[in-house]
Amino acid sequence: MKTMIARIEDRRCPNWAESAPPAGEGLAALVHRSRLLGADRRIANIFGGNTSVKSTETDHVGRSTRVLWVKGSGSDLGSIREQHFAALKLDEIDPLFTRMEMSDEAMTAYLERTVFEPGRPRQSIETLLHAFVPAPHVDHTHPDAIISIACSPRGEEIMREIYGDRAAWVPYVRPGFSLSRMIGEAVRDNPGLDCVVMGKHGLVTRGETSAECYEKTLRVIEQAESWLAERASAEPFGASRLAPLNEADRRETFAALLPVLRGAMGGTRKVILQIDDDQDVLDFVGAAECADFAMRGAACPDHLVHTKRRPLVLDWTPGSGREALIDSAKQGISGFVADYAQYFERHAAEGDTMAAPYPRIVLIPGLGMVTAGADVMAAEVSRQLYRRAIAVMRHAKTVGGYETLTEAESFAIEYWPLELYKLSRKPLPRPLHGHVAVITGAASGIGRATAARLAREGAHVVIADRNADGAQDVAAQIASDRGEGRALAATVDVTSEEQVTDAFTATTLAYGGVDIVVNNAGISMSGPIVGTALADWQRQIDILGTGYFLIAREAFRQMRLQDTGGSIVFVASKNAVAAGRNAAAYSAAKAAELHLARCLAEEGGAAGIRVNTVLPDAVLAGSSIWNSSWRADRAATYGIRDDELEAHYRARTTLKVNILPDDVAEAILFFASETSAKTTGGVLTVDGGVPAAYVR
Ligand code: NAD
Repeated sequence: MKTMIARIEDRRCPNWAESAPPAGEGLAALVHRSRLLGADRRIANIFGGNTSVKSTETDHVGRSTRVLWVKGSGSDLGSIREQHFAALKLDEIDPLFTRMEMSDEAMTAYLERTVFEPGRPRQSIETLLHAFVPAPHVDHTHPDAIISIACSPRGEEIMREIYGDRAAWVPYVRPGFSLSRMIGEAVRDNPGLDCVVMGKHGLVTRGETSAECYEKTLRVIEQAESWLAERASAEPFGASRLAPLNEADRRETFAALLPVLRGAMGGTRKVILQIDDDQDVLDFVGAAECADFAMRGAACPDHLVHTKRRPLVLDWTPGSGREALIDSAKQGISGFVADYAQYFERHAAEGDTMAAPYPRIVLIPGLGMVTAGADVMAAEVSRQLYRRAIAVMRHAKTVGGYETLTEAESFAIEYWPLELYKLSRKPLPRPLHGHVAVITGAASGIGRATAARLAREGAHVVIADRNADGAQDVAAQIASDRGEGRALAATVDVTSEEQVTDAFTATTLAYGGVDIVVNNAGISMSGPIVGTALADWQRQIDILGTGYFLIAREAFRQMRLQDTGGSIVFVASKNAVAAGRNAAAYSAAKAAELHLARCLAEEGGAAGIRVNTVLPDAVLAGSSIWNSSWRADRAATYGIRDDELEAHYRARTTLKVNILPDDVAEAILFFASETSAKTTGGVLTVDGGVPAAYVR
């Protein structure tokens, strides 16, 4: 099944000469090399690894200065740009090599004072490794094949078998000064080295030119891959224990499971879920030794931060049915939480605060994998990293075992002050971070403005509209403004029961569930009663009555499964309370809508599902309801003269009533968010400050 983020793993690296490299050996060549390596996820984890170049630059007073350009923290090699590299003065860093030790805090503080160019991102925690390796170009990556060997109890021996004297082995040490120094020493003592293999961690390669460094990284990895391929085990995770469900069943089963999982996994913070049922994952979760491998721990510190030490493996087989799966998920999560609390207790130092004790990875035999994160990108990073972990474990039998970070080593990474410091420097999450909102009629007008507004507050938004192209455009715009995966277009006619169910299923499969539903889709085709055709009346009732019912019913179903409450906002109209002349059908349908909302507020209260209504008066700009073709249509069908409408607008304009879709979106946001947590069954008018729609 497709995930929300485009996949770029396994895009093989071309040879340097064929890759159209830029001229020179400076930053441009480094960016080029980094992006090539980062595009192949077998080589570089998402957001992991780092690369560098040493060059001579002229500083602000005209002095020639040796500069280390090294990847800054928080960027991904695959999409890195020049501005994502930190620039540090090498002459000020070199003397550190004479020291024998240095704390993380002292190292970070020192490096902060060596900045060559202000305004660049903070340097990576692994910066000194690059500085201490005496070569102009250095790559540090986490290739699957190398990590398989680095996690073997025979790792050093196998490394020797593959590379002879051209490789050095450095045992596992948490990244920082000591590890960097050990690597620097290994290379300085041995100029003939091609690479350094870091136990339970990764690879360091270097070159005199960017081309040489790149080719060396690739050739070293290829040698390890060939060695492993020649000895590959036919059943790397033991015999296949069960056949996976077929694709349609997997889809239905995920749709039933995800809201339950999401509800049980979020705690006080919402999470977004991603699924992966590619063949590699299905093979792993269906194999006899899956749980045994999964329980051994994380292969590499870079994985651990995003996958936790262990995944949750559900005790379930497809034959035992969906109810058993739901039970197993609930029990599994409470067991995981209890185990995590004990792990924390065993290792916590004074002042440590326990992180969210929920799993980031859930493995389900016959179904696949679910990953969780604070937003869609975080869940995707976990997904990609666990795929790397599976690729690493695949060779465990070949290399004679799989030795992961110990429990204590894992805790030291998970609660590493430098990692926590990194987190603390991130901006505070927006109020709707991790929330999922479905907005109907979001391809235009008020719905579109609402989607953009909720997305600005951190929500992942589903643009549900019968206008497929319009919905795609809005989703693409929001994804480009707020980040990949932040918006999903769902083509749905809200009057179709089947399409409404499908739209919610698509939402669940994309994000794991739903927290906010804005019932907004609408048309306006009313006129004087005598001229109103039955079909026109029916159409209003279908969209504004039945459609709102269908959307609300599905929202209730999903929110109940999730069991974390939710907020439903109806967009009615001032006509719902103030009778509209020549708009009986529209007004009556809007009144039905409003009453439906209040009834649902009664029904949802106990489950924490709030239902509130916004009553806009005429939104003259940005809405297609009032556009010229609608006005022409009213004139032709009902004989309402355009100048009559024009007069109405002008009267409102004279009163300085200029309600915009953004104004209505603001009111919707109020009801959608926790700001109105204590309000349900409420009605908020948006009348431009001129009372036209107050509740009479
Ligand atoms: P709009 O025409 O700009 O947008 C409405 C959207 O709803 C369109 O994208 C349309 O494709 C979609 N839609 C229509 N029928 C649908 C269906 N059956 N299934 C799915 N999508 C459908 O209108 P707008 O002004 O943004 O109106 C949004 C809501 O606000 C409506 O419920 C409307 O009644 C209400 N409202 C509007 C005004 C106003 O002056 N514009 C005033 C009061 C209330």
